[in-house]
Amino acid sequence: MRYLIVADIHSNLEALEAVIRDAHGAYDQVVCCGDVVGYGADPDAVTDWVRKNAAHCVRGNHDKVCAGMADASWFNSAAARAAAWTQEQLSEVNRKFLCGLPEGPLEVGSFLIAHGSPLDEDDYIVSPADAANLTGYLDARISFFAHTHLQGGYQLHRNGVISLSAVAPNLSAATVELENDPFYLLNPGSVGQPRDGDPRAAYLVYEPARRVVHFRRVVYDIGQAQRKIVAAGLPELLASRLADGQ
Ligand code: ZN
Repeated sequence: MRYLIVADIHSNLEALEAVIRDAHGAYDQVVCCGDVVGYGADPDAVTDWVRKNAAHCVRGNHDKVCAGMADASWFNSAAARAAAWTQEQLSEVNRKFLCGLPEGPLEVGSFLIAHGSPLDEDDYIVSPADAANLTGYLDARISFFAHTHLQGGYQLHRNGVISLSAVAPNLSAATVELENDPFYLLNPGSVGQPRDGDPRAAYLVYEPARRVVHFRRVVYDIGQAQRKIVAAGLPELLASRLADGQ
Protein backbone atom coordinates (compact mmCIF):
# COMPACT_ATOMS: atom_id res chain seq x y z
CA MET A 1 0.00 0.00 0.00
CA ARG A 2 1.24 3.45 -0.95
CA TYR A 3 -0.29 6.37 0.96
CA LEU A 4 -0.91 9.90 -0.28
CA ILE A 5 -0.68 11.96 2.90
CA VAL A 6 -2.26 15.42 2.77
CA ALA A 7 -3.01 18.02 5.44
CA ASP A 8 -4.06 21.62 5.98
CA ILE A 9 -5.92 21.78 2.69
CA HIS A 10 -7.90 24.72 4.05
CA SER A 11 -10.62 24.91 1.36
CA ASN A 12 -8.06 25.55 -1.39
CA LEU A 13 -9.49 23.58 -4.35
CA GLU A 14 -6.90 24.74 -6.88
CA ALA A 15 -4.05 23.49 -4.67
CA LEU A 16 -5.83 20.20 -3.94
CA GLU A 17 -6.50 19.52 -7.62
CA ALA A 18 -2.85 20.18 -8.46
CA VAL A 19 -1.75 17.69 -5.80
CA ILE A 20 -4.16 15.02 -7.07
CA ARG A 21 -2.88 15.49 -10.63
CA ASP A 22 0.76 15.47 -9.57
CA ALA A 23 0.41 12.37 -7.37
CA HIS A 24 -1.68 10.44 -9.90
CA GLY A 25 -0.56 6.81 -10.11
CA ALA A 26 1.84 7.12 -7.18
CA TYR A 27 -0.56 6.08 -4.38
CA ASP A 28 -3.28 3.59 -3.46
CA GLN A 29 -4.96 5.29 -0.52
CA VAL A 30 -5.51 8.86 0.71
CA VAL A 31 -4.90 9.83 4.33
CA CYS A 32 -5.58 13.33 5.69
CA CYS A 33 -4.13 14.90 8.85
CA GLY A 34 -6.88 17.49 9.26
CA ASP A 35 -7.79 21.13 8.60
CA VAL A 36 -9.83 20.28 5.54
CA VAL A 37 -11.52 23.70 5.71
CA GLY A 38 -10.94 27.25 6.93
CA TYR A 39 -9.25 30.23 5.15
CA GLY A 40 -10.04 29.33 1.51
CA ALA A 41 -13.04 29.81 -0.77
CA ASP A 42 -14.08 26.21 -1.58
CA PRO A 43 -15.02 24.49 1.68
CA ASP A 44 -17.79 22.37 0.19
CA ALA A 45 -15.89 21.14 -2.86
CA VAL A 46 -12.80 20.30 -0.81
CA THR A 47 -14.82 18.52 1.90
CA ASP A 48 -16.72 16.60 -0.80
CA TRP A 49 -13.41 15.32 -2.14
CA VAL A 50 -12.01 14.35 1.27
CA ARG A 51 -15.30 12.68 2.27
CA LYS A 52 -15.34 10.59 -0.90
CA ASN A 53 -11.63 9.85 -1.27
CA ALA A 54 -9.83 9.84 2.07
CA ALA A 55 -9.71 6.40 3.70
CA HIS A 56 -8.70 8.01 7.00
CA CYS A 57 -8.87 11.60 8.27
CA VAL A 58 -8.47 13.18 11.70
CA ARG A 59 -10.01 16.52 12.61
CA GLY A 60 -8.07 19.78 12.70
CA ASN A 61 -8.70 22.81 14.89
CA HIS A 62 -10.27 24.69 11.96
CA ASP A 63 -12.54 21.74 11.17
CA LYS A 64 -13.86 21.86 14.73
CA VAL A 65 -14.63 25.59 14.59
CA CYS A 66 -16.03 25.57 11.04
CA ALA A 67 -18.33 22.65 11.91
CA GLY A 68 -19.60 24.50 14.98
CA MET A 69 -17.98 22.17 17.53
CA ALA A 70 -15.69 24.80 19.07
CA ASP A 71 -15.80 28.58 19.27
CA ALA A 72 -13.36 30.84 17.47
CA SER A 73 -12.33 32.86 20.53
CA TRP A 74 -8.66 31.93 20.16
CA PHE A 75 -8.54 32.50 16.35
CA ASN A 76 -7.12 35.72 14.90
CA SER A 77 -9.73 37.94 13.26
CA ALA A 78 -9.07 36.74 9.67
CA ALA A 79 -9.34 33.07 10.70
CA ALA A 80 -12.49 33.77 12.72
CA ARG A 81 -14.15 35.59 9.81
CA ALA A 82 -13.25 32.75 7.44
CA ALA A 83 -14.61 30.19 9.92
CA ALA A 84 -17.94 32.04 10.24
CA TRP A 85 -18.20 32.30 6.45
CA THR A 86 -17.29 28.61 6.04
CA GLN A 87 -20.00 27.59 8.50
CA GLU A 88 -22.58 29.29 6.28
CA GLN A 89 -21.25 27.64 3.11
CA LEU A 90 -21.01 24.02 4.25
CA SER A 91 -23.74 21.61 3.18
CA GLU A 92 -25.36 19.62 5.97
CA VAL A 93 -23.72 16.40 4.81
CA ASN A 94 -20.28 18.02 4.85
CA ARG A 95 -20.84 19.72 8.22
CA LYS A 96 -21.81 16.34 9.69
CA PHE A 97 -18.78 14.71 8.09
CA LEU A 98 -16.46 17.28 9.70
CA CYS A 99 -18.26 16.89 13.05
CA GLY A 100 -17.68 13.14 12.89
CA LEU A 101 -13.95 13.27 12.17
CA PRO A 102 -12.01 11.53 14.95
CA GLU A 103 -9.53 13.23 17.24
CA GLY A 104 -5.94 12.19 16.57
CA PRO A 105 -3.88 10.22 17.00
CA LEU A 106 -5.51 7.60 14.78
CA GLU A 107 -3.86 4.29 13.98
CA VAL A 108 -3.63 3.56 10.24
CA GLY A 109 -1.92 0.24 9.55
CA SER A 110 1.41 0.43 11.35
CA PHE A 111 1.55 4.23 11.69
CA LEU A 112 -0.27 7.07 13.43
CA ILE A 113 -1.83 10.24 12.06
CA ALA A 114 -2.49 13.34 14.14
CA HIS A 115 -3.30 16.96 13.42
CA GLY A 116 -1.06 18.61 16.04
CA SER A 117 1.05 16.54 18.39
CA PRO A 118 0.21 12.82 18.81
CA LEU A 119 -0.22 13.69 22.50
CA ASP A 120 -2.52 16.71 21.99
CA GLU A 121 -4.31 17.51 18.75
CA ASP A 122 -4.00 21.27 19.34
CA ASP A 123 -0.25 21.36 20.18
CA TYR A 124 2.32 22.54 17.62
CA ILE A 125 5.55 20.64 16.94
CA VAL A 126 7.83 23.33 15.50
CA SER A 127 11.29 22.52 16.81
CA PRO A 128 13.59 19.60 17.62
CA ALA A 129 12.95 20.41 21.31
CA ASP A 130 9.19 19.95 20.80
CA ALA A 131 9.88 16.63 19.09
CA ALA A 132 12.29 15.55 21.84
CA ASN A 133 9.52 16.03 24.42
CA LEU A 134 7.65 13.17 22.75
CA THR A 135 10.48 10.65 23.18
CA GLY A 136 9.13 7.62 25.00
CA TYR A 137 5.48 8.63 24.47
CA LEU A 138 4.92 7.60 20.86
CA ASP A 139 2.91 4.42 20.23
CA ALA A 140 4.24 3.86 16.70
CA ARG A 141 7.63 4.19 15.00
CA ILE A 142 6.15 6.47 12.37
CA SER A 143 3.69 9.29 13.04
CA PHE A 144 2.42 11.85 10.57
CA PHE A 145 1.39 15.24 11.90
CA ALA A 146 0.42 18.66 10.54
CA HIS A 147 -0.92 21.95 12.02
CA THR A 148 2.32 23.94 11.54
CA HIS A 149 2.03 24.15 7.72
CA LEU A 150 5.78 23.40 7.58
CA GLN A 151 6.88 20.43 5.47
CA GLY A 152 9.52 18.23 7.11
CA GLY A 153 9.91 16.28 10.29
CA TYR A 154 12.19 14.72 12.84
CA GLN A 155 14.14 11.54 13.59
CA LEU A 156 13.95 10.72 17.28
CA HIS A 157 16.96 8.76 18.50
CA ARG A 158 17.53 7.61 22.06
CA ASN A 159 20.15 10.30 22.50
CA GLY A 160 18.72 13.17 20.50
CA VAL A 161 16.59 14.52 17.71
CA ILE A 162 17.66 15.23 14.12
CA SER A 163 15.63 17.52 11.88
CA LEU A 164 14.99 15.97 8.47
CA SER A 165 16.10 19.18 6.79
CA ALA A 166 19.60 18.30 8.01
CA VAL A 167 19.37 14.78 6.55
CA ALA A 168 17.86 15.88 3.21
CA PRO A 169 18.67 19.53 2.47
CA ASN A 170 16.36 19.87 -0.56
CA LEU A 171 13.42 18.34 1.23
CA SER A 172 10.75 19.55 -1.18
CA ALA A 173 11.92 17.03 -3.78
CA ALA A 174 13.52 14.46 -1.49
CA THR A 175 12.94 10.76 -1.07
CA VAL A 176 13.91 9.88 2.48
CA GLU A 177 14.74 6.30 3.41
CA LEU A 178 13.49 5.50 6.89
CA GLU A 179 15.93 3.75 9.19
CA ASN A 180 14.82 0.93 11.49
CA ASP A 181 15.97 2.33 14.80
CA PRO A 182 14.63 5.87 15.24
CA PHE A 183 11.06 7.02 15.71
CA TYR A 184 9.82 9.45 13.07
CA LEU A 185 7.53 12.47 13.18
CA LEU A 186 6.74 13.44 9.58
CA ASN A 187 4.83 16.48 8.33
CA PRO A 188 3.57 16.49 4.72
CA GLY A 189 3.28 20.29 4.81
CA SER A 190 0.17 22.22 3.85
CA VAL A 191 -1.69 21.68 0.61
CA GLY A 192 -3.65 24.92 0.76
CA GLN A 193 -1.66 27.46 2.77
CA PRO A 194 2.08 26.67 3.05
CA ARG A 195 3.96 28.81 5.58
CA ASP A 196 7.54 27.71 4.96
CA GLY A 197 8.29 30.36 2.35
CA ASP A 198 7.55 28.04 -0.59
CA PRO A 199 4.08 28.85 -1.97
CA ARG A 200 3.76 25.55 -3.85
CA ALA A 201 1.24 23.01 -2.52
CA ALA A 202 2.92 20.43 -0.27
CA TYR A 203 2.24 16.74 0.26
CA LEU A 204 4.01 13.42 0.66
CA VAL A 205 3.74 9.81 -0.43
CA TYR A 206 4.64 7.07 2.05
CA GLU A 207 5.58 3.57 0.91
CA PRO A 208 5.83 1.33 4.01
CA ALA A 209 6.96 -1.73 2.01
CA ARG A 210 10.03 0.16 0.73
CA ARG A 211 10.35 2.26 3.92
CA VAL A 212 10.54 5.48 1.93
CA VAL A 213 8.82 8.85 2.12
CA HIS A 214 8.64 11.11 -0.92
CA PHE A 215 8.26 14.79 -0.04
CA ARG A 216 6.68 16.71 -2.89
CA ARG A 217 5.76 20.29 -3.92
CA VAL A 218 3.64 21.29 -6.89
CA VAL A 219 2.80 24.64 -8.47
CA TYR A 220 -0.89 25.52 -8.71
CA ASP A 221 -3.05 28.41 -9.90
CA ILE A 222 -2.56 30.71 -6.91
CA GLY A 223 -4.17 33.62 -8.79
CA GLN A 224 -7.43 31.75 -9.20
CA ALA A 225 -7.52 30.74 -5.51
CA GLN A 226 -6.84 34.39 -4.56
CA ARG A 227 -9.57 35.77 -6.82
CA LYS A 228 -12.12 33.42 -5.28
CA ILE A 229 -11.12 34.46 -1.74
CA VAL A 230 -11.54 38.15 -2.61
CA ALA A 231 -14.81 37.53 -4.50
CA ALA A 232 -16.20 35.69 -1.46
CA GLY A 233 -15.56 38.79 0.68
CA LEU A 234 -12.98 37.00 2.83
CA PRO A 235 -10.06 39.01 4.30
CA GLU A 236 -7.53 40.06 1.61
CA LEU A 237 -4.70 38.83 3.80
CA LEU A 238 -5.89 35.26 3.21
CA ALA A 239 -5.37 35.80 -0.52
CA SER A 240 -2.06 37.68 -0.42
CA ARG A 241 -0.35 35.26 1.94
CA LEU A 242 -0.80 32.40 -0.55
CA ALA A 243 1.67 34.02 -2.94
CA ASP A 244 4.20 34.54 -0.13
CA GLY A 245 3.97 31.01 1.22
CA GLN A 246 3.58 32.56 4.67
ZN1 ZN B 1 -4.06 24.45 9.48
